[in-house]
Amino acid sequence: LIILIANYSFNNNHNNTDKVIVHATNYLCNFYSKNNEIESPIIILNGSNDIYLDKGSNYIELGAKAIDNCSGDISNNIKTEGKVNTNKEGVYKVKYKIVDDNNNINITERNIYVREKKEEKGIIYLTFDDGPSKSITPYILDILNKEDIKATFFVINHPSDTDYLLKKINEEGHTIGLHSYSHNYSYIYSSIDNYFNDLNLIKEKVYNLTGVNSNIIRFPGGTSNLVSKKYTSGIMSKLIEEVSKYEYIYYDWNIESNDSGGVNSSEEVYNNVINNLSLDKINMVLLHDYENNYYTLEALPQIIRYAKDNGYIFKNINNDTIQIKHAPNN
Ligand code: ZN
Repeated sequence: LIILIANYSFNNNHNNTDKVIVHATNYLCNFYSKNNEIESPIIILNGSNDIYLDKGSNYIELGAKAIDNCSGDISNNIKTEGKVNTNKEGVYKVKYKIVDDNNNINITERNIYVREKKEEKGIIYLTFDDGPSKSITPYILDILNKEDIKATFFVINHPSDTDYLLKKINEEGHTIGLHSYSHNYSYIYSSIDNYFNDLNLIKEKVYNLTGVNSNIIRFPGGTSNLVSKKYTSGIMSKLIEEVSKYEYIYYDWNIESNDSGGVNSSEEVYNNVINNLSLDKINMVLLHDYENNYYTLEALPQIIRYAKDNGYIFKNINNDTIQIKHAPNN
């Protein structure tokens, strides 16, 4: 009983939990007979239990931890079985097996889904970053609704009087992507931890308001941004690996409207978009619904008219959408 209490109190205020538990339980194991120990070791997978991969990509084995009540950390004894062929569609299982000193066994599996994303041509993905804002987003939603078009909103944190807009975006069938909570480059790109702390905040906010557990993300500034170099050299190359470990799918764009700076009229926004559309590719258009994006709002109906008249189809991003990616510059 004393040992259990000791465990409990250490457990709650210490990072070295494993060590403490192992220490205390070893004592228990020695106190009784080690041979009678019948408890199986536990296995904790590093990374997710389900991993989704595009055909042709790389599978990175993240391994697992194994802790036994008598033998302690026996992660090095885990036997990993199973092959993942990322060149063939299918569901692959990787098995993690651990046996402790008294032959107590535990097995855990991880599912790896390899999927081929279909080539899509003449599709337009309208993506709106940095919203939702009261001055722009409701009107964009009205236009999309009227035109029967679904789009994607890469949202950031705004005051709570915009919460209804997050809900509305979701209720009207659009995709909510995660952009950033703070959109503060100096914070998020100062370390990997900061990046994930910020991402988790916006993920939680979206989840709490809409019930949507989004894994679709867009890096502030895009994957190719140079601004992050000021804060951490090489962070973008690292982040694209890290986010993939946690099932996030990141999307950049291949058509830039320049609506977040550089344009002086709605005609410019319109031209920047339609002059770069092609029926032979996926068209992922970067737009913004931040509070001052009036040119975007004005240009949107004309962009949609042009696209519909010329045979384009609009879609919102989902987990099966082919990634449009920039190469990292940092
Ligand atoms: Zn942004």
